[in-house]
Formats: sequence, C-alpha cells, structure tokens
Amino acid sequence: MACVSYPYEYDAPVSQTLFDRASLVTPGGVNSPVRAFRAVGGTPRFMVSGTGPYLTDADGREYVDLVCSWGPMILGHSHPEVIAAVQAAVARGTSFGTPGEGEVALAEEIVARIEPVEQVRLVSSGTEATMSAIRLARGFTGRAKVVKFAGCYHGHVDALLAAAGSGVATFGLPDTPGVTGAQAGDTIVLPYNDIEAVRAAFAAHPGEIACVITEASPGNMGVVPPGEGFNAGLAELCRTNGALYISDEVMTGFRTSKAGWYGIDGVRPDLMTFGKVMGGGFPAAAFGGRKDVMAHLAPAGPVYQAGTLSGNPVATAAGLAQLRLLDDAAYAKIDAVSKEIQSLVTSALSKEGVAHRLQTASNMFSVFFTDSDVRDYDGAKAQESFRFTPFFHSMLAQGVYLPPSAFESWFVSTAHDERAVERIAAALPAAARAAAEATA
Ligand SMILES: *Cc1c(COP(=O)(O)O)cnc(C)c1O
Repeated sequence: MACVSYPYEYDAPVSQTLFDRASLVTPGGVNSPVRAFRAVGGTPRFMVSGTGPYLTDADGREYVDLVCSWGPMILGHSHPEVIAAVQAAVARGTSFGTPGEGEVALAEEIVARIEPVEQVRLVSSGTEATMSAIRLARGFTGRAKVVKFAGCYHGHVDALLAAAGSGVATFGLPDTPGVTGAQAGDTIVLPYNDIEAVRAAFAAHPGEIACVITEASPGNMGVVPPGEGFNAGLAELCRTNGALYISDEVMTGFRTSKAGWYGIDGVRPDLMTFGKVMGGGFPAAAFGGRKDVMAHLAPAGPVYQAGTLSGNPVATAAGLAQLRLLDDAAYAKIDAVSKEIQSLVTSALSKEGVAHRLQTASNMFSVFFTDSDVRDYDGAKAQESFRFTPFFHSMLAQGVYLPPSAFESWFVSTAHDERAVERIAAALPAAARAAAEATA
C-alpha cells in the first residue's frame, strides 16, 4: 500500500528531501513510527511552524491540524501565554537537578483538579508514567501479574507491548521482537469491554494479579469508549480481589474534561497516569493516586523510580501555563467545535453512502469505516481501513492534516475557529467521495 500514488497526491519536494536525509540517519526516517505515513503511503510532511489550529510544512503549505501533536496542543500551536511562560522559564536556566517551585505548582494543580490523586510524581513521558505505575503496583501488592486490554496502548513498556494499540495497531504487530517471554509472561491480555473476562482472570489467578491497567477511555485503537459500567466493574473487581485499578489518562487527562475522564465517569482509580496535555508540548508526564500507595515510592518507600530531567523547569512552566488556561469555558469551546466537526464528517460520509461509525469520547473522536459499533480491538480491526487511505490523502491535499492512521483519535483545540472549520467542511465532500470509490 505504501507505493500506491493517488491522482490527487501533490508533490512535497522539500519534505521528500528531508525524509531522504532522515532515512539515512534514523531508522525509517522518523523518531516515532506512525509519523512515517506507512499505513497511508506517501511522503510524511515535515512541519516547520504552527500557529493556532494551523501547521506549515517545509514546502510552505498550510494545514488545519486535527492531530494537535497527538493531543498536547489543546490550546493550539504557539499560544502566546504558554510561549511567554516558556521564555520566562528558559531565561532562568533550563535544568538544575534539584527541586524547584514549578514542579510543586504543577503537582498542586493536578492534585487540585483530580480528586483521587492525593500525591503525584512527575516524569518525562507517558511511557515512564505507566511503567512506573506498574512497578509501584507490583511493589505495593507483592504480586506479579498485570491485566491489560487488547487495543489499549500504554506506551512502549516491555510488559505492556502485548496486543497494544497505536503504532502497534497500525502495523498489526501482535507483539514485538525484543520483548522476552519473561517480560510479557506476567501480562494477561483480555478483550476490551468484556467484564466477564476480567472476572474469569481473577478467578483463574487468585492472589496473583497486582493491577488492571486500562485506558480511561481508549483512543489508541481509534475511539472506543468504555461501555456502561465497565470501568466501575473493573474498579470493583480490583477492590474485591486486592488488586490496584490503574486508569491510564495520558491521552484523556486534562482533555476530555477539566478532570479528564475521571471528571466524566467518576470511577475512582487507585493510580492514574498522565502526559500529553499536562506538558504543554514539552516532555512532562506523571503518575499519582492513593497516598498510601504513593508512599511506597523512593525516597519515602522502597520502590525505586527516578529521572534526571523529571520536573524540568521549562516543561513544568509550559504545562502549568496550559493547565491554568484550561477553564470551563475552554472545555466548552473544545467540545462545541469537536461536535461541529463530527457532524460535518458524518454528513459528508453519509451523503456518499459510506458505511461508517463516528465514535466519540467527549471531544475526542474518530471514524471507523464499518456499519457496526466498535466495542473492542477485533471490531476496530474489522473496519474497511482501505477507505481511510484515499480519504486521508484527499484531506491532506486540500490542507487538512488528519492522523495518518485509521486507528487514532482526532484532536481539536480552543484555537479551531470558524475559518478552520470552514476549511475542513470544504475538504470533506471530495474526501468522502474518495472513500466511497475506494476498493480493497
Ligand atoms: C500516548 C500514550 C502513552 C505514551 O505516552 P508517551 O509520552 O508517548 O510515552 C501512554 N498511554 C496512553 C493512553 C497514551 O495515549
């Protein structure tokens, strides 16, 4: 599929030259796999700047951005107050390797917003957050096994790279070389939204399961929200079996509401993980939760965890500036523009008779090319993803940047205004036609 060229594909000569250079010195030419456009073919666009809802590529073309750096840029690109906070922080120095006030303020902001988070530890990536949360859960419970769900992505943690979503979903890899049987051997992978499977796993492994980790509302196999009572059922099964319930809110945290997905379903986790939005476009992430559990972390307790750049003053300044701007009005704005785009997408596809499901989780959404509701990873994989490729390229050629995979959430920001929405609306009819005409 990577070699197919489309009549509406236009040249991107500068991006192509950069990609050629990149491919000589970096595996696959990218530093994170989905960026390479392998699922959709064509030349990945090298971006040089971003302002509000727009990105500009190295060939000077402007796009309405519906990826928003995979979630973090919830205020749009180059928000003046975030940039000012970063510039002020940089001017004071970039890293001290000591505690600083910025990290205290960011931790206070997280604790104030998300009631189940009594204490929080800052790290530099979502991967580190989930890896550390799993270690802490194992250290706290003295148990080894971890339950995860097929299609849920928790970063590239060895033990969690079994039936993961995101780039792994895009490439259809059931697993990855380099993860040993021992590393994945204590991981139990279950179908998403299947509470009976979780009950059965606890029955089959009494006293052995340290934790259940789940995306609070999955966005890494496309948007597949939890069914009624699923998260509450997980929390209850964990409680009755002495395991910890870990809600991975790296994607949903500070995006789906002021208090993330917890603010929507109110199900109380023992531990939570955050990233993306809380870093304001810089590497900052976190895990936190029950004080008695967090007390097991070094130096307060025996479970080791550390990081040279954890709580970095520039990253925390960016994250704090962004979170402080995310008030109720900001979320209302994001929710409204998201709904507007959702309905434009649905009506364009319906007009062309393209079978699809537009699935939502608050302001996160994605399109599945199928005529049945998608409740799990098997359902997501059953879609006609061949329709996404021409749809994607048509949108790209018309200046709308979608995630280059049929298995990713789309993201909007407070900066997506009427002009940006009009550009999306203008691009959709031709893209929907391309999807309708696609053949497997
Ligand atoms: C993005 C993501 C991660 C990994 O975060 P990185 O910062 O890319 O390591 C973990 N969990 C979820 C739910 C994510 O969406």
